[in-house]
Amino acid sequence: MNIHEYQAKALLRSYGAPVSDGKVILRAEDAKNAAGELDGPLWVVKAQIHAGGRGKGSFKEAEAGEKGGVRLAKSVEEAAEEAKKMLGKTLVTHQTGPAGKQVNRIYIEDGSDIERELYLALLVDRVSSRVSFVCSTEGGMDIEEVAASTPEKILSFSVDPATGYQPFHGRRVAFALGLEGPAVKQCVQLMGILYKAFIEKDMEMLEINPLILMPGGQLKVLDAKLGFDGNAMYRQPEVSELRDTTEEDPKELEASKYDLNYIALDGEIGCMVNGAGLAMATMDIIKLYGAEPANFLDVGGGATKEKVTEAFKIITSDEQVKGILVNIFGGIMRCDVIAEGVVAAVKEVGLKVPLVVRLEGTNVEEGKKIINESGLDVIAADDLKDGAEKIVKAVKG
Ligand code: GDP
Ligand code: MG
Repeated sequence: MNIHEYQAKALLRSYGAPVSDGKVILRAEDAKNAAGELDGPLWVVKAQIHAGGRGKGSFKEAEAGEKGGVRLAKSVEEAAEEAKKMLGKTLVTHQTGPAGKQVNRIYIEDGSDIERELYLALLVDRVSSRVSFVCSTEGGMDIEEVAASTPEKILSFSVDPATGYQPFHGRRVAFALGLEGPAVKQCVQLMGILYKAFIEKDMEMLEINPLILMPGGQLKVLDAKLGFDGNAMYRQPEVSELRDTTEEDPKELEASKYDLNYIALDGEIGCMVNGAGLAMATMDIIKLYGAEPANFLDVGGGATKEKVTEAFKIITSDEQVKGILVNIFGGIMRCDVIAEGVVAAVKEVGLKVPLVVRLEGTNVEEGKKIINESGLDVIAADDLKDGAEKIVKAVKG
C-alpha cells in the first residue's frame, strides 16, 4: 500500500525527521490561504499522486502549462496560480504509464535552499531477508540514470535484525554521502529515526529522493515515498486510514473487496486461475505463445460460485481483454464450482470475446457437463499448453 508525499512527510515528522512546513489542498479556492500560511520567500507546489518522477513529468492538458508536477513559486499569488493550473489535470510521469494520473490534491511547501541533492532508501532486501540502506551522492531526478550507467555510485548494505540499527550504520551512510562536520551526527540520528519508523510501521520501502544538504549544513527530507506491507495493515490502523483508493486501479480495488488475488496488467488475455503458481505458469505460457496476460488472478482454494462470478466480471470489465483463458486445476477448488461461476457470470454480463476453458482435477466431469449444457460458446481445452495455444489463436488469428 502506498500513501501520498504529504502523508509520508507528516508521518516522518512525527518521528522527528526534518521536513518543511506544508499545506495540502483539494480545492483551488483554498490555494491562496494555504500558501499564505507559509513563510516563503520560496514556495514549492507539488502534485500529489502515487507515482514518482513528477518533476520531470508533463500534463496532458495544455491549461496546466509546460512545467512538470513540482513547481517553484516566488510569491503566494504565483503558488496559488500554479496549484490551480495543476488541480484536476492529468500528470504523466515515467512511473504512471502513458495514461497518467489525475491530480486531486496539491501540497504547497515552504521552499528550501539546496546545496546538494542526495539519495536514500530503506527497503526489504529479499535476497538477504533484511532491511537494507541504499544511498548515493547523486540524488535528485536522475537516479534511474545513475543506477543504469554508474551503479558504483550507489552504496547498499543491510542491517542485522539481531542488533537492529546501530550508529555505525548511520556513519556508513554519512561517509558514503560525503557528509562532514555536524551533518554526520545529524545523519546518524536521522537514519535511526527512519529505521525505527520503517520497522514500527511495517514499511516495504522508504525512499527519500532527494535528501538535501542545505547551505547551513543541515539535512532535510525534501521528497518522501513510503510503501507499506499490505498484509500487515490489519495491525496498522493509522496507516490504513491514509489509504487513498482513488489512486488505486478500480479493478484491483473491486477484487480486494472479494478477497481475490488480482493484479491488473497491460496485455490482452484475461486469466482466471486457481493457485498462484499455476497463475504464474499460465501467464508464462501465454507469453510463450506470443500474447500478453491482461491480469494475474488467483481465485484461491476455497472460492465460492459468487467469488468466481465477481472475478469473471472484473476480467470482462477490462476493455483491453480480447480473450479469456480459464485454467483450473481442481484440488480443494472444485471444477463444478468454477463452471457454475463462469456460467452465471456470462449470463449476467454477456460474453463478447472468445473464452477457452481448461478444467482438470476434482469434479472435472461435472464441471465440463455444466459448461457443455450451458449453451455458451466456449472453446474447450485439454491441458495448459492446449489452452494457451487456443486462446492466443482465437485472439490473434
Ligand atoms: P519527484 O520529481 O516526483 O521526485 O519530486 P521531488 O519532490 O523529488 O521534486 C523534484 C525536484 O524539485 C527535486 O529534485 C528538487 O530539485 C526540486 N525541489 C523540490 N523541492 C524543492 C525546494 O524546496 N527547493 C528547491 N530549490 N527545489 C526543490
Ligand atoms: Mg523525488
